[in-house]
Amino acid sequence: MAITDSATTNLVSVEPGAIREDTPAGSVIQYSDYALDTSSRFAGGAAWIEGEYVPASEARISIFDTGFGHSDLTYTVAHVWHGNIFRLGDHLDRLLDGARKLRLPSPLTKEELASIAKRCVALSQLRESYVNITLTRGFGARKGEKDLSKLTTQVYVYAIPYLWAFPPHEQIFGTSAIVPRHVRRAGRNTIDPTVKNYQWGDLTAASFEAKDRGVRTAILLDADGCVAEGPGFNVVIVKDGRLVSPSRNALPGITRRTVFEIAKAMGIDADLRDVTSQELYDADELIAVTTAGGVTPITSLDGAPVADGTPGSVTVALRDRFWALMDEPSPLVEAIDY
Ligand SMILES: *Cc1c(COP(=O)(O)O)cnc(C)c1O
Repeated sequence: MAITDSATTNLVSVEPGAIREDTPAGSVIQYSDYALDTSSRFAGGAAWIEGEYVPASEARISIFDTGFGHSDLTYTVAHVWHGNIFRLGDHLDRLLDGARKLRLPSPLTKEELASIAKRCVALSQLRESYVNITLTRGFGARKGEKDLSKLTTQVYVYAIPYLWAFPPHEQIFGTSAIVPRHVRRAGRNTIDPTVKNYQWGDLTAASFEAKDRGVRTAILLDADGCVAEGPGFNVVIVKDGRLVSPSRNALPGITRRTVFEIAKAMGIDADLRDVTSQELYDADELIAVTTAGGVTPITSLDGAPVADGTPGSVTVALRDRFWALMDEPSPLVEAIDY
Protein backbone atom coordinates (compact mmCIF):
# COMPACT_ATOMS: atom_id res chain seq x y z
CA MET A 1 0.00 0.00 0.00
CA ALA A 2 1.47 3.34 -1.03
CA ILE A 3 2.24 5.90 1.63
CA THR A 4 -0.19 8.36 0.01
CA ASP A 5 -3.14 5.98 0.05
CA SER A 6 -5.41 7.20 2.85
CA ALA A 7 -8.02 4.47 3.09
CA THR A 8 -11.47 5.80 3.90
CA THR A 9 -12.21 2.88 6.16
CA ASN A 10 -8.97 3.56 8.00
CA LEU A 11 -8.16 -0.14 7.88
CA VAL A 12 -5.56 -1.27 5.43
CA SER A 13 -6.77 -4.70 4.43
CA VAL A 14 -4.51 -7.55 3.51
CA GLU A 15 -4.85 -8.83 -0.04
CA PRO A 16 -6.38 -12.31 -0.37
CA GLY A 17 -3.71 -14.93 0.01
CA ALA A 18 -1.17 -12.50 1.42
CA ILE A 19 -0.72 -12.53 5.15
CA ARG A 20 2.01 -9.95 5.61
CA GLU A 21 2.18 -6.21 5.13
CA ASP A 22 5.53 -4.70 4.28
CA THR A 23 7.28 -3.56 7.43
CA PRO A 24 10.35 -1.34 7.55
CA ALA A 25 13.52 -3.44 7.60
CA GLY A 26 15.05 -3.66 11.06
CA SER A 27 12.03 -2.06 12.74
CA VAL A 28 10.39 -3.34 15.89
CA ILE A 29 7.47 -4.72 13.83
CA GLN A 30 8.37 -7.99 12.12
CA TYR A 31 6.10 -10.83 11.07
CA SER A 32 6.82 -14.47 11.87
CA ASP A 33 8.51 -16.42 9.12
CA TYR A 34 6.32 -19.41 8.30
CA ALA A 35 4.25 -20.90 5.51
CA LEU A 36 0.58 -21.82 5.64
CA ASP A 37 -0.43 -25.42 5.01
CA THR A 38 -2.94 -24.56 2.31
CA SER A 39 -4.33 -28.09 2.16
CA SER A 40 -6.61 -26.93 5.01
CA ARG A 41 -9.76 -24.99 4.03
CA PHE A 42 -9.21 -22.82 7.10
CA ALA A 43 -5.68 -21.73 6.15
CA GLY A 44 -5.49 -17.93 6.35
CA GLY A 45 -8.79 -17.36 8.15
CA ALA A 46 -11.44 -19.18 10.17
CA ALA A 47 -14.78 -18.20 11.69
CA TRP A 48 -17.27 -19.65 14.14
CA ILE A 49 -20.87 -18.98 13.10
CA GLU A 50 -23.94 -20.50 14.77
CA GLY A 51 -21.91 -23.23 16.41
CA GLU A 52 -19.76 -24.26 13.47
CA TYR A 53 -16.23 -23.54 12.32
CA VAL A 54 -16.12 -22.38 8.71
CA PRO A 55 -13.40 -20.97 6.45
CA ALA A 56 -13.40 -17.16 6.71
CA SER A 57 -14.31 -16.90 3.01
CA GLU A 58 -17.51 -18.87 3.69
CA ALA A 59 -18.56 -17.01 6.85
CA ARG A 60 -22.14 -15.73 6.44
CA ILE A 61 -24.72 -14.39 8.90
CA SER A 62 -28.46 -13.82 8.64
CA ILE A 63 -29.66 -10.55 7.13
CA PHE A 64 -32.35 -10.63 9.87
CA ASP A 65 -29.81 -10.34 12.68
CA THR A 66 -30.57 -7.11 14.61
CA GLY A 67 -26.83 -6.66 14.94
CA PHE A 68 -27.06 -5.77 11.25
CA GLY A 69 -30.44 -4.02 11.27
CA HIS A 70 -30.05 -2.00 14.48
CA SER A 71 -26.34 -2.27 15.21
CA ASP A 72 -27.61 -3.92 18.40
CA LEU A 73 -24.38 -5.58 19.43
CA THR A 74 -21.02 -5.31 21.08
CA TYR A 75 -17.69 -6.75 20.02
CA THR A 76 -14.02 -6.82 20.71
CA VAL A 77 -10.89 -7.34 18.68
CA ALA A 78 -7.88 -9.06 20.20
CA HIS A 79 -4.70 -9.78 18.35
CA VAL A 80 -2.17 -12.55 17.92
CA TRP A 81 1.46 -11.68 17.33
CA HIS A 82 4.27 -14.22 16.87
CA GLY A 83 1.76 -16.93 17.78
CA ASN A 84 0.80 -15.36 21.12
CA ILE A 85 -2.67 -13.98 21.82
CA PHE A 86 -2.55 -10.73 23.81
CA ARG A 87 -4.79 -9.93 26.80
CA LEU A 88 -7.63 -12.18 25.62
CA GLY A 89 -9.08 -12.31 29.16
CA ASP A 90 -9.19 -8.51 29.39
CA HIS A 91 -10.85 -8.30 25.98
CA LEU A 92 -13.51 -10.80 27.04
CA ASP A 93 -14.08 -9.00 30.35
CA ARG A 94 -14.74 -5.75 28.46
CA LEU A 95 -16.95 -7.58 25.94
CA LEU A 96 -19.07 -9.24 28.64
CA ASP A 97 -19.26 -6.01 30.62
CA GLY A 98 -20.56 -4.28 27.47
CA ALA A 99 -23.04 -7.10 26.90
CA ARG A 100 -24.37 -6.66 30.45
CA LYS A 101 -24.80 -2.92 29.86
CA LEU A 102 -26.77 -3.69 26.69
CA ARG A 103 -28.84 -6.32 28.57
CA LEU A 104 -27.53 -8.83 26.07
CA PRO A 105 -27.08 -12.14 27.89
CA SER A 106 -24.15 -14.13 26.51
CA PRO A 107 -25.07 -17.74 25.77
CA LEU A 108 -21.41 -18.67 26.27
CA THR A 109 -19.10 -18.23 29.24
CA LYS A 110 -15.86 -16.31 29.13
CA GLU A 111 -13.96 -19.61 29.04
CA GLU A 112 -16.05 -20.92 26.14
CA LEU A 113 -15.57 -17.71 24.16
CA ALA A 114 -11.82 -17.87 24.82
CA SER A 115 -11.52 -21.42 23.60
CA ILE A 116 -13.53 -20.73 20.41
CA ALA A 117 -11.39 -17.68 19.66
CA LYS A 118 -8.16 -19.62 20.15
CA ARG A 119 -9.50 -22.49 18.04
CA CYS A 120 -10.27 -20.09 15.17
CA VAL A 121 -6.68 -18.85 15.34
CA ALA A 122 -5.28 -22.37 15.46
CA LEU A 123 -7.41 -23.43 12.46
CA SER A 124 -6.33 -20.35 10.52
CA GLN A 125 -2.67 -21.18 11.27
CA LEU A 126 -2.08 -17.43 11.43
CA ARG A 127 0.83 -16.32 13.62
CA GLU A 128 -0.26 -12.69 13.23
CA SER A 129 -4.02 -12.40 13.45
CA TYR A 130 -6.92 -10.05 14.07
CA VAL A 131 -9.46 -11.87 16.23
CA ASN A 132 -13.00 -10.50 16.35
CA ILE A 133 -15.62 -11.69 18.87
CA THR A 134 -19.10 -10.22 18.39
CA LEU A 135 -22.32 -10.66 20.39
CA THR A 136 -25.51 -9.49 18.67
CA ARG A 137 -29.13 -9.35 19.83
CA GLY A 138 -29.65 -11.87 17.05
CA PHE A 139 -32.92 -12.84 15.43
CA GLY A 140 -36.23 -14.51 16.26
CA ALA A 141 -38.22 -17.35 14.74
CA ARG A 142 -40.27 -14.81 12.73
CA LYS A 143 -38.35 -12.92 10.05
CA GLY A 144 -37.78 -9.29 11.08
CA GLU A 145 -38.96 -9.98 14.65
CA LYS A 146 -38.87 -6.73 16.66
CA ASP A 147 -39.96 -8.01 20.08
CA LEU A 148 -36.69 -7.90 22.03
CA SER A 149 -37.78 -10.74 24.28
CA LYS A 150 -38.11 -13.05 21.27
CA LEU A 151 -34.60 -12.51 19.92
CA THR A 152 -31.76 -14.94 20.58
CA THR A 153 -28.24 -13.63 21.17
CA GLN A 154 -25.82 -14.68 18.47
CA VAL A 155 -22.08 -15.10 18.81
CA TYR A 156 -19.72 -14.66 15.88
CA VAL A 157 -15.97 -15.17 16.10
CA TYR A 158 -13.32 -14.93 13.43
CA ALA A 159 -9.56 -14.92 13.04
CA ILE A 160 -8.14 -13.30 9.90
CA PRO A 161 -4.72 -11.87 8.97
CA TYR A 162 -3.68 -9.00 11.22
CA LEU A 163 -5.16 -5.65 10.12
CA TRP A 164 -3.42 -2.31 10.54
CA ALA A 165 -5.32 0.89 11.35
CA PHE A 166 -2.18 2.59 10.04
CA PRO A 167 0.31 0.97 7.68
CA PRO A 168 3.30 -0.38 9.63
CA HIS A 169 5.71 2.16 8.16
CA GLU A 170 3.59 4.96 9.67
CA GLN A 171 4.04 3.38 13.07
CA ILE A 172 7.77 3.82 12.58
CA PHE A 173 7.83 7.16 10.73
CA GLY A 174 4.60 8.82 11.92
CA THR A 175 1.09 9.40 10.61
CA SER A 176 -1.07 12.45 9.95
CA ALA A 177 -4.41 13.55 11.39
CA ILE A 178 -6.93 16.34 11.29
CA VAL A 179 -9.46 17.51 13.81
CA PRO A 180 -12.72 17.30 11.81
CA ARG A 181 -14.63 20.52 11.19
CA HIS A 182 -17.86 18.82 10.22
CA VAL A 183 -18.51 16.09 12.76
CA ARG A 184 -18.28 15.52 16.52
CA ARG A 185 -18.05 12.23 18.41
CA ALA A 186 -21.42 10.97 19.72
CA GLY A 187 -21.80 11.82 23.39
CA ARG A 188 -21.80 9.30 26.20
CA ASN A 189 -25.49 10.04 26.87
CA THR A 190 -26.28 8.99 23.28
CA ILE A 191 -24.14 5.91 22.70
CA ASP A 192 -22.25 4.45 25.65
CA PRO A 193 -18.61 4.81 24.57
CA THR A 194 -17.51 2.13 27.06
CA VAL A 195 -19.38 -0.51 25.02
CA LYS A 196 -17.34 -1.26 21.89
CA ASN A 197 -19.79 -0.86 19.01
CA TYR A 198 -20.27 -0.55 15.26
CA GLN A 199 -22.14 2.78 15.34
CA TRP A 200 -19.44 4.35 13.24
CA GLY A 201 -21.39 7.15 11.50
CA ASP A 202 -19.34 9.91 13.15
CA LEU A 203 -16.04 8.01 12.80
CA THR A 204 -16.67 7.22 9.12
CA ALA A 205 -17.59 10.84 8.35
CA ALA A 206 -14.37 11.90 10.07
CA SER A 207 -12.35 9.40 8.00
CA PHE A 208 -13.83 10.85 4.79
CA GLU A 209 -13.00 14.37 5.93
CA ALA A 210 -9.43 13.24 6.63
CA LYS A 211 -9.20 11.76 3.13
CA ASP A 212 -10.63 14.94 1.59
CA ARG A 213 -7.98 16.94 3.45
CA GLY A 214 -5.23 14.60 2.28
CA VAL A 215 -4.29 12.95 5.55
CA ARG A 216 -4.58 9.49 7.09
CA THR A 217 -6.99 9.90 9.97
CA ALA A 218 -8.93 12.11 12.37
CA ILE A 219 -9.10 12.94 16.06
CA LEU A 220 -12.70 13.74 16.96
CA LEU A 221 -13.84 16.21 19.58
CA ASP A 222 -17.04 15.71 21.52
CA ALA A 223 -19.97 18.15 21.66
CA ASP A 224 -18.19 20.11 24.42
CA GLY A 225 -15.05 20.52 22.33
CA CYS A 226 -13.08 18.03 24.44
CA VAL A 227 -10.94 15.37 22.78
CA ALA A 228 -12.77 12.05 22.32
CA GLU A 229 -11.02 9.49 20.08
CA GLY A 230 -10.35 8.51 16.49
CA PRO A 231 -11.77 5.87 14.13
CA GLY A 232 -10.87 2.79 16.16
CA PHE A 233 -8.10 4.25 18.29
CA ASN A 234 -7.54 6.10 21.54
CA VAL A 235 -5.54 9.31 21.63
CA VAL A 236 -2.69 9.77 24.09
CA ILE A 237 -0.93 13.11 24.56
CA VAL A 238 2.62 13.46 25.86
CA LYS A 239 3.24 16.80 27.55
CA ASP A 240 6.15 17.69 29.83
CA GLY A 241 7.05 14.02 30.21
CA ARG A 242 3.55 12.91 31.28
CA LEU A 243 0.78 11.06 29.47
CA VAL A 244 -2.85 12.14 29.39
CA SER A 245 -5.82 10.65 27.56
CA PRO A 246 -9.53 11.49 27.54
CA SER A 247 -11.52 9.95 30.36
CA ARG A 248 -14.86 10.47 28.60
CA ASN A 249 -16.43 9.83 25.22
CA ALA A 250 -13.75 7.29 24.42
CA LEU A 251 -13.58 3.51 24.62
CA PRO A 252 -11.48 2.22 27.55
CA GLY A 253 -8.98 0.68 25.15
CA ILE A 254 -6.91 -2.34 26.10
CA THR A 255 -3.95 -0.90 24.18
CA ARG A 256 -4.21 2.39 26.05
CA ARG A 257 -4.33 0.48 29.33
CA THR A 258 -1.20 -1.42 28.25
CA VAL A 259 0.56 1.81 27.26
CA PHE A 260 -0.32 3.38 30.61
CA GLU A 261 1.04 0.31 32.43
CA ILE A 262 4.25 0.44 30.39
CA ALA A 263 4.60 4.18 31.14
CA LYS A 264 4.12 3.68 34.86
CA ALA A 265 6.74 0.89 34.84
CA MET A 266 9.09 3.42 33.20
CA GLY A 267 8.33 6.01 35.90
CA ILE A 268 6.19 8.14 33.57
CA ASP A 269 2.93 9.48 35.03
CA ALA A 270 -0.25 8.75 33.07
CA ASP A 271 -3.70 10.20 33.74
CA LEU A 272 -7.20 9.87 32.35
CA ARG A 273 -9.06 13.18 32.50
CA ASP A 274 -10.92 15.69 30.35
CA VAL A 275 -8.58 16.86 27.58
CA THR A 276 -9.23 20.13 25.74
CA SER A 277 -8.65 20.55 22.02
CA GLN A 278 -5.99 23.16 22.83
CA GLU A 279 -3.95 20.42 24.49
CA LEU A 280 -3.75 18.60 21.16
CA TYR A 281 -2.07 21.58 19.52
CA ASP A 282 0.23 22.16 22.52
CA ALA A 283 1.32 18.50 22.72
CA ASP A 284 4.98 17.48 22.77
CA GLU A 285 3.94 14.15 21.24
CA LEU A 286 0.63 12.70 20.01
CA ILE A 287 -0.04 8.98 19.85
CA ALA A 288 -2.80 6.80 18.34
CA VAL A 289 -3.16 3.48 20.18
CA THR A 290 -5.23 0.46 19.16
CA THR A 291 -5.19 -3.33 18.99
CA ALA A 292 -5.27 -3.00 15.20
CA GLY A 293 -1.91 -1.32 14.98
CA GLY A 294 -0.15 -0.79 18.29
CA VAL A 295 1.34 2.58 19.12
CA THR A 296 1.52 5.05 16.23
CA PRO A 297 3.09 8.52 16.45
CA ILE A 298 0.89 11.28 15.00
CA THR A 299 3.51 13.67 13.67
CA SER A 300 1.25 16.05 11.76
CA LEU A 301 -1.98 17.66 12.97
CA ASP A 302 -4.17 19.89 10.79
CA GLY A 303 -1.30 20.23 8.35
CA ALA A 304 1.25 21.44 10.91
CA PRO A 305 4.05 19.37 12.45
CA VAL A 306 3.54 18.09 16.01
CA ALA A 307 6.61 19.51 17.83
CA ASP A 308 9.45 18.94 15.32
CA GLY A 309 7.35 16.62 13.15
CA THR A 310 9.25 13.41 13.97
CA PRO A 311 8.23 10.58 16.33
CA GLY A 312 8.99 11.64 19.91
CA SER A 313 11.25 9.75 22.28
CA VAL A 314 8.46 8.81 24.72
CA THR A 315 6.29 7.46 21.88
CA VAL A 316 9.18 5.46 20.47
CA ALA A 317 10.02 3.95 23.87
CA LEU A 318 6.37 3.00 24.49
CA ARG A 319 5.97 1.54 21.00
CA ASP A 320 9.09 -0.60 21.20
CA ARG A 321 8.20 -1.86 24.68
CA PHE A 322 4.64 -2.61 23.52
CA TRP A 323 5.86 -4.91 20.75
CA ALA A 324 8.46 -6.52 23.02
CA LEU A 325 5.63 -7.56 25.36
CA MET A 326 4.23 -9.84 22.65
CA ASP A 327 7.28 -12.11 22.92
CA GLU A 328 7.77 -12.16 26.70
CA PRO A 329 6.16 -14.84 28.84
CA SER A 330 3.71 -13.01 31.14
CA PRO A 331 0.08 -13.24 32.24
CA LEU A 332 -0.72 -10.91 29.31
CA VAL A 333 0.15 -13.42 26.59
CA GLU A 334 -0.93 -16.98 25.87
CA ALA A 335 0.67 -19.17 23.21
CA ILE A 336 -1.78 -20.54 20.64
CA ASP A 337 -1.73 -24.32 20.39
CA TYR A 338 -1.56 -24.72 16.60
C1 LIG B 1 -11.44 -0.70 19.46
C2 LIG B 1 -11.48 0.77 19.61
C3 LIG B 1 -10.44 1.47 20.25
C4 LIG B 1 -9.15 0.81 20.69
O1 LIG B 1 -9.35 -0.13 21.71
P1 LIG B 1 -8.35 -1.34 21.93
O2 LIG B 1 -8.98 -2.13 23.02
O3 LIG B 1 -7.04 -0.77 22.33
O4 LIG B 1 -8.24 -2.06 20.64
C5 LIG B 1 -10.62 2.82 20.48
N1 LIG B 1 -11.73 3.47 20.07
C6 LIG B 1 -12.74 2.83 19.42
C7 LIG B 1 -13.93 3.60 18.97
C8 LIG B 1 -12.65 1.46 19.18
O5 LIG B 1 -13.63 0.83 18.53
